[in-house]
Amino acid sequence: MSSPANLHIAIIGAGPSGCYLAQALARGLPESSITIFDRLASPFGLIRYGVAADHQHTKAITRQFERLFTSGAARFAGNIEVGRDLTLADLREHFDAVVLASGLSVDRPLDIPGSELPGVFGAGEITRALNSHPESAALRPGFGSDVVVVGAGNVALDILRFLVKDASGYEESDVNDEFLAAYLSSPAQRVTLASRSLAPESKGDPQMIKEIAALPRASYTSTTLSTPASDAERPAAARSAAFHELLSPERAAAQGPAVEIIFGATPTRILGADRVTGVEFAVGGESTVVPATSVITAVGFTSATDDTFSQLTATPAGSGRLGEGLYRTGWAKRGPSGAIPENRACAKSVSEEIFSDIADGALTAGNKPGFAGLPAAVRDRAISYDDWLRLDAHERSSAQTGRVRTKTSDHTHMVNIARG
Ligand SMILES: Cc1cc2nc3c(=O)[nH]c(=O)nc-3n(C[C@H](O)[C@H](O)[C@H](O)COP(=O)(O)OP(=O)(O)OC[C@H]3O[C@@H](n4cnc5c(N)ncnc54)[C@H](O)[C@@H]3O)c2cc1C
Repeated sequence: MSSPANLHIAIIGAGPSGCYLAQALARGLPESSITIFDRLASPFGLIRYGVAADHQHTKAITRQFERLFTSGAARFAGNIEVGRDLTLADLREHFDAVVLASGLSVDRPLDIPGSELPGVFGAGEITRALNSHPESAALRPGFGSDVVVVGAGNVALDILRFLVKDASGYEESDVNDEFLAAYLSSPAQRVTLASRSLAPESKGDPQMIKEIAALPRASYTSTTLSTPASDAERPAAARSAAFHELLSPERAAAQGPAVEIIFGATPTRILGADRVTGVEFAVGGESTVVPATSVITAVGFTSATDDTFSQLTATPAGSGRLGEGLYRTGWAKRGPSGAIPENRACAKSVSEEIFSDIADGALTAGNKPGFAGLPAAVRDRAISYDDWLRLDAHERSSAQTGRVRTKTSDHTHMVNIARG
């Protein structure tokens, strides 16, 4: 039996949690061989396909991961979907340790009557389309004049920022220009943001609320904003102050939609026959109907019910151990909350569990062949990091004026460009 230092490790998912874990494992086990698989032809998961196009400073986090791949510490194997091109059992047969870092990609449904009606969209679907994700880039929803956003976390705030901005807000971004143009040709006139919690306990970062307040766009009102408590905890007080700034009567009304924010609103029913016409909320013990031409839900994420990992990732847990030589990290471990840096701490704790299993003899190198032993058809299918760099360079060099890149959104086209 070879030394545990020579472990073959497979990580499923090249999002931030998979990359942070590979960094931690490469540091602790420099002689191990790490392969990060991803179903897409590009690495970086939601940094590329979730983080808003006008937040390029956040997307720049990917630079932290470049050395991981260019130094040879980890191999990127894109264009390989576990569950389609390989089974989890295949991976466990070929690798000593397998780690799920596959995230949670499906919008959690609202689960109230009417939530299946046309005109109800998930925020993940919209943010993927704005980011030219191959599976959502063709989406062109006509939101109509009255948009209701359900939720007030950071993803809901990303959606609100998109609904109020005009074209000038996308300089030096990589937004999907067709989607943006389709929206701006007929933008929302009225937007309602409905938060289940009161302002201090709502989920958004104060910084995100302040960013919206600083935009010279839209007008904001609310009849449910409470007076800030003097003894509030720091984040709650900061959030409350940010909402007071946004909703201040002194803030001059500007061009763009009229936005109403309702705090303490629980959605109870989506109304409409063939398409959504309104949303019924319970607010302070009373029922209120907000007219709507479309509804965007931003109430979290879950795994697809029919994917390979749904049972393994359904319940968040403190430990990353799933079984012998099988682990999970990131959103697949903790559930759909936490910003990118939290995945770093999560990866560190999972790597420590792996190191401790090696020290205890619970995880050993079993002369498994790793990537080199996979069927030729799978190895040939893989997009390497060098291939990705070719696609990356193509997207940057073909950027339209005012854009940092123009993303290729057709998966086959991405693969062909990557392969040169
Ligand atoms: C819309 C949105 C905006 C966000 N904005 C910010 C922000 O501005 N700042 C911030 O700090 N955080 C933000 N976050 C949170 C951040 O994106 C997450 O914390 C982080 O991406 C979770 O990392 P992950 O690696 O666990 O999952 P993901 O980033 O989702 O990565 C999972 C990867 O696994 C791959 N995968 C899935 N299934 C398979 C399979 N079967 N086979 C192979 N590969 C597979 C996927 O293609 C994907 O690349 C945002 C989240 C969302 C949803």
